[in-house]
Amino acid sequence: MPVSESDGIFTDAIGRLDRAAEFAAIDSEALEKLKHPKAILEVSIPVRMDDGSLRVFRGYRVRYDCTRGPTKGGIRFHPQVSLGEVKALAFWMTCKCAVVGIPFGGGKGGVVVDPKQLSRMELERLSRGFVDEMADFIGPNTDIPAPDVYTNAMIMGWMMDEYGKIHRQRTPAMITGKPIPLGGSLGRDDATGRGAYYCIKELERIRNWKPANVRVAVQGFGNAGQHVARLLYDDGYRVVATSDSRGGVYREEGLDIPRAIQLKKEGQAVGAVYSSRSVCDCLKCGSADCNCSRHDSATGEVISNEALLELDVDVLIPAALENQITQDNADRVKAPVIIEVANGPTTSQADEILTAKGTLVVPDILANAGGVTVSYFEWVQNLAGYYWTVEEVHERLQKIMAREFNAIYEFMNDKGIDMRTAAYAQALDRISEAIEAQGTSVYFAADRTNSNHSAGKPGHTRSYP
Ligand code: NAD
Repeated sequence: MPVSESDGIFTDAIGRLDRAAEFAAIDSEALEKLKHPKAILEVSIPVRMDDGSLRVFRGYRVRYDCTRGPTKGGIRFHPQVSLGEVKALAFWMTCKCAVVGIPFGGGKGGVVVDPKQLSRMELERLSRGFVDEMADFIGPNTDIPAPDVYTNAMIMGWMMDEYGKIHRQRTPAMITGKPIPLGGSLGRDDATGRGAYYCIKELERIRNWKPANVRVAVQGFGNAGQHVARLLYDDGYRVVATSDSRGGVYREEGLDIPRAIQLKKEGQAVGAVYSSRSVCDCLKCGSADCNCSRHDSATGEVISNEALLELDVDVLIPAALENQITQDNADRVKAPVIIEVANGPTTSQADEILTAKGTLVVPDILANAGGVTVSYFEWVQNLAGYYWTVEEVHERLQKIMAREFNAIYEFMNDKGIDMRTAAYAQALDRISEAIEAQGTSVYFAADRTNSNHSAGKPGHTRSYP
């Protein structure tokens, strides 16, 4: 895809800054700076395939902004990866880290590949090849990758090993989301879903929800979607629908989420990286071709990913890819509450439709920030060489998510704005504070009298607790 074409998602992403800036104490020059990524590396990764042939894959890494700390963000393996998408994802990471107040900037990486078509050995060579090409661009104090769509702890382990070989130094803090024996953090596996769950628990308190009466639909049943679905199920919520790349399932009485997770696991043959089974297979139990561990009959229906978004539910959780709720379907989305576990699932045009309808959208830069927060915990533990219990990780994550959720929710109500704008305003305040603290040398304009400088703005700077 030509860069200009793929840049639409990035343009849409930064388009939200100006609106949020009206509610933040940020200088117009600082705002302008935030509309441009700091550094981009595009690489070609040659990989020897199992049949002896050579294939060359395209990879990207974007370090968006490092004012608040080293850049931080996942690596995505997906056929639709584009530079525009990686820039947008890196921009969102910048805002996300500021929203939860952790000392990182934003970054992101991606490889244009359908990883499900590769053998495990080919996937390992590709992962190591990515690090070979990026070895001078990433590092524990500059840019720290993590898992994202179709990458996981095993791939992070290969990447850490490769980085260690290149630099002749074991460096666990160069990547997060690693396997536990290589310095991964307890509680990182479910951190993204758990962070979203803690946001929902705050809403439950504010809105007096009774879990058994709350119907939830989760689009995407990967790392992020599975865990939020499981935590809600364990709490008694009725998770009535879920889906993956092959389609979805709906059951009015609620789905058996542990069973769906088990099914996905069963589809993961020894040595395989991705599950060969779909959540749609949930409804096959009892039929002749069913390999599932439980063979009781299940009622329900198979639905499409598009239909899932339009279900009559109380909470909709997009947890797959971006651009799922657009101007084409936003008016048919019935859920009054959307928790954005995926990055960028809602376009800005859809946002306007949802806001006009009164839908509460808990934005991605808050709702899925649990992942990067525990990645931060992992990095801290790696640097300290001292490891925490899973209870410590959960407790610290819960405190941060509840604190930031409530601050943003309150700001939204105070100003009468949507929650996304409130979250961006909080991010801009914090990024702006860091830019200001760097000193005046970053400014070149002699006459700043027309600028939107914080000193001249009615203050609503929110500092750190
Ligand atoms: P994953 O690879 O573990 O799972 C992705 C899921 O999406 C799979 O169930 C896949 O089948 C499904 N999917 C793929 N294409 C789809 C489609 N067209 N329609 C519906 N479902 C589809 O990835 P993940 O880590 O769970 O990431 C999911 C989302 O959460 C992404 O937007 C990612 O950026 C975001 N996120 C992930 C993390 C993390 O820590 N993993 C952190 C923050 C945000």
